[in-house]
Amino acid sequence: MWQGIANLFYPRLCVLCNSSLLMSEQHICTTCQLDLPLTNFHAQIENPLEKIFWGRTKLERAFSFVYFKKGGSVQKMLHQLKYKGNTELAEYLGLLYGTSLQQTITDENIKGIIAIPLHKSKFKKRGYNQSELFALGLSRALQKDNLSSYVVRNKATETQTKKARYDRWQNVESIFSVLNPDGLKNKHVLLVDDVITTGSTIEACANELLQIEGCKVSVASIAVAIR
Ligand SMILES: [Zn+2]
Repeated sequence: MWQGIANLFYPRLCVLCNSSLLMSEQHICTTCQLDLPLTNFHAQIENPLEKIFWGRTKLERAFSFVYFKKGGSVQKMLHQLKYKGNTELAEYLGLLYGTSLQQTITDENIKGIIAIPLHKSKFKKRGYNQSELFALGLSRALQKDNLSSYVVRNKATETQTKKARYDRWQNVESIFSVLNPDGLKNKHVLLVDDVITTGSTIEACANELLQIEGCKVSVASIAVAIR
């Protein structure tokens, strides 16, 4: 009832279509949720996302919740996460995706989840890391440890899109450091990012983790921009 009354004053709206949410709905209405362009990559071995990492880094599996398309609903969703401070949505997406990943995570024996960290200057500016909140939702849905504090970002480097792959690789090398690597020994971890485009950030971070004895890496993102 209180939610109903609150809705009169502060209507809860779908972040994608702006229609009023039902009591049972959160952030995204059922219609928009059914319209999300799911990749279902977790159910597909050698999927297109896994292929972009071939010859670059050794991942066990890679999957993404939805496809990114410019101007589409997913771009709108990511905009909410990155620039509108919608921290609850990030965690909610993790919960939502986590429920579909249950079986895959069990089959792959994944033990913990690590979000790609932001550089501390960027974290300070934004106040939160949307990938980490997504990871938090995943870790809750999957009941796996959130091990995000094990990795730090040493450089604020980001825009590398105009550079050739070779330069880009040099640019991202040692962007990340692993703290307390012993804690990740012989563990299979799920590395989580918001959007994967070239995959170079994931590549750099995964290569750091793969230095650890017996450490295996799989990848999950909210969205993937591949054709
Ligand atoms: Zn909607």
